[in-house]
Amino acid sequence: MDAKRSISERLLTWYDVHRRDLPWRAAPGERADPYRVWLSEVMLQQTQVSTVLGYFARFLDRFPSVAALAAGTEDEVFGLWSGLGYYSRARNMHRCAQDVVSRFGGEFPRTAAELQSLPGIGRSTAAAIAAFCFGERVAILDGNVKRVLTRLLAFGGDMSSAAQERLLWNEATDLLPPAEDRQAIARYTQGLMDLGATVCLPRKPSCMICPVSDLCAARKEGAPETYPVKTRKLKRTAQSLWMLLARDAQGRVWLEKRPARGIWAGLYSLPVFESREGLLQTLGSQDRAGARDEPAFVHVLTHKDLHLHPVAVESRGSQPLAETGGWFATAEWQGLGLPAPVRKLLGSEP
Ligand code: SF4
Repeated sequence: MDAKRSISERLLTWYDVHRRDLPWRAAPGERADPYRVWLSEVMLQQTQVSTVLGYFARFLDRFPSVAALAAGTEDEVFGLWSGLGYYSRARNMHRCAQDVVSRFGGEFPRTAAELQSLPGIGRSTAAAIAAFCFGERVAILDGNVKRVLTRLLAFGGDMSSAAQERLLWNEATDLLPPAEDRQAIARYTQGLMDLGATVCLPRKPSCMICPVSDLCAARKEGAPETYPVKTRKLKRTAQSLWMLLARDAQGRVWLEKRPARGIWAGLYSLPVFESREGLLQTLGSQDRAGARDEPAFVHVLTHKDLHLHPVAVESRGSQPLAETGGWFATAEWQGLGLPAPVRKLLGSEP
């Protein structure tokens, strides 16, 4: 048996013993539900399984089908997403559900090529849905799988380069189990993902218990953790923002909906300003005199450190502070999509 065939055989055997039962996975011998697989795949981008489990259950409870999600409002979707970050995922997810209903009659299309035509579904997510739910023989290449494959093959191409990534896609396709075994693709794909999540870890791969260790080229070289190779580093920037934390006489907090573009697009937030002076200028003279600086803190985004400076104001009345926005009682804002640092400031961890 050649090495490629051995890799898929070993992974299939390993998966059958070590499979993780997750709520979006099908029972052995059954096909997974595309709505559940899609939800989980989108949630799992940038987020750990342990965090996703609670969000997944709440989402399904409120939106049990793709049609229910399509009929929900964006605010409801953001509210349930609150704390997962990367809100463009939630926005695309809502649009995608609407497209599935309007273009495909409420049923997810069955091929990776068609799935990729939907908002927010990239090549790897499309392949995961097509493989898990419809048995299509297509390769996925999410972060975990990329790590396992670059190590197995000692693939030294730079993963910041689109051309190198395409080459790795070709290798990943070459390694798939044979076309005649259509049942194998879902198990193989899940095995590869699980191996990356539980054994072939980024810093400390557990090569001793790995089912493909004797076939792994990076292990033979002696330094598997140097794969995948990625030379382009994110350039980090920093920004300071001032946030108006205003409460009215009833203890309600003033929130505004953020514009559709830019930071925290479409979420509700405390009003944000680029300077303390800019913030104070929007207040009446009484509120300005009573404004109090709260301790500043840093919120870390992927590319940027946000230095946030809250300024608290107790407003005497309940008159509007601006043309857009409103006063929200605790029970009201808790259900809204709020940026994580705003939720933290308001006293409720997601
Ligand atoms: Fe990863 Fe080690 Fe297994 Fe290679 S042998 S795939 S580096 S865990």
